[in-house]
Amino acid sequence: MDFGFTEEQQYVKDVARKFADERLFPHAGEFDKNAKLDRGVIKEMAELGLMGVKVPEKYGGTGLDELAYVISLEELARGCASHALVAAVHGSLFTFPLLEYGTEEQRTKYIPAVCSGDKMAAYSLSEAGSGSDAVSLRLLATEDGDSYVLNGTKLWVTHGADADYIILFATVNPELRTKGIVAFVIETDRPGFAVGKNEDKMGYKASPTSEIIFTDYRVPKENQIGEVGKGFNIAMETLNHGRISIGAQAVGMAQRALEIAAKYSCERKQFGKEISTFQGLQFMMADMEAKIHTARLAVYQAAWLKSKGKAAIKEAAIAKMMASEMGTEVAHSAIQILGGYGYTHEYNVERIYRDVRLCEIFEGTNQILRIVIARELLKEYTDN
Ligand SMILES: Cc1cc2nc3c(=O)[nH]c(=O)nc-3n(C[C@H](O)[C@H](O)[C@H](O)COP(=O)(O)OP(=O)(O)OC[C@H]3O[C@@H](n4cnc5c(N)ncnc54)[C@H](O)[C@@H]3O)c2cc1C
Repeated sequence: MDFGFTEEQQYVKDVARKFADERLFPHAGEFDKNAKLDRGVIKEMAELGLMGVKVPEKYGGTGLDELAYVISLEELARGCASHALVAAVHGSLFTFPLLEYGTEEQRTKYIPAVCSGDKMAAYSLSEAGSGSDAVSLRLLATEDGDSYVLNGTKLWVTHGADADYIILFATVNPELRTKGIVAFVIETDRPGFAVGKNEDKMGYKASPTSEIIFTDYRVPKENQIGEVGKGFNIAMETLNHGRISIGAQAVGMAQRALEIAAKYSCERKQFGKEISTFQGLQFMMADMEAKIHTARLAVYQAAWLKSKGKAAIKEAAIAKMMASEMGTEVAHSAIQILGGYGYTHEYNVERIYRDVRLCEIFEGTNQILRIVIARELLKEYTDN
């Protein structure tokens, strides 16, 4: 077992860290306040190769491994969660299903423009009546010659309002359950696509989350990914993959919260000495450090397993669950260490607290992940 980084992994870590420190973190409060992504910043991230870290070079990516990818996301989220999420949606939710299940035409048509930051991408599974129970989705795909006609509404689409391309899950017949689910890559500039309500959220405010509406939207069969009935598997495998990237973001946010708290504690004086000298706060910071350390190991190990071609379903779920809950706890403690200033916008820890809380909810709530972990764990006993 080797816990060291390769030269390439260290390089990507350094590049992402510098970018986060110089181009993201100084403006993260402003991005949050204005609730807007900066397309120029996204383009800069792309130019540094951070928009497709593990996408093969022949599709415009950087061609590194899964671990390099999660390290880059951790560092970006240490700067700004909303912009890190762009790299995660592009790197996991959009490119993964195309690379794994798409046709060569689809890959060459859609992936390079996303890696270059010229196009925005999204992944749309959730609906009003189908969140954790994803099989119950109802967006209807009706076959018509060499196309499908889509009708229905999707909810909670990250980048839904900005996306040029979307990985979309629909059903040819809701009664068929998983057997009816089909995946597409769709283009949003075609007739029949509309953006509905934009959500006003607690955190990840710069990252737009929207409802999207399909009315007699015609998608050519050449945009279908895999067969009818394979869509649910594609959706779940993509999420299994994406979960590690959510864990990585939570680790990055927690790391920043601890850094802010530690620095503040060494500067702030009460009772004639730095508050960092109070054992009560030292124990809090020791716990924060230990929790970040262990969550990071879980994230890296899950990524390492993925890079070895393992499914790592249980490990990915553990990584996301542990890291997201750790992130909330660490950000909570950071606010406490800063006292009154922790509760203001000035020091960023309240923003991190609001941002990191989402990691417990999206790409499978932590309750659903506990179901996944228990199922995988009990397989060993029930399969015999
Ligand atoms: C900011 C944001 C961005 C998002 N981005 C995307 C996106 O880009 N694409 C996309 O497709 N979706 C996206 N989502 C949707 C997200 O994945 C869902 O919100 C999530 O899967 C939970 O679904 P739900 O909100 O319908 O909650 P529900 O499924 O209604 O769950 C409500 C509560 O019940 C619990 N629960 C449900 N079933 C069980 C069970 N069997 N056992 C125990 N507890 C259970 C849940 O854990 C939760 O606590 C996003 C959500 C948010 C908030």
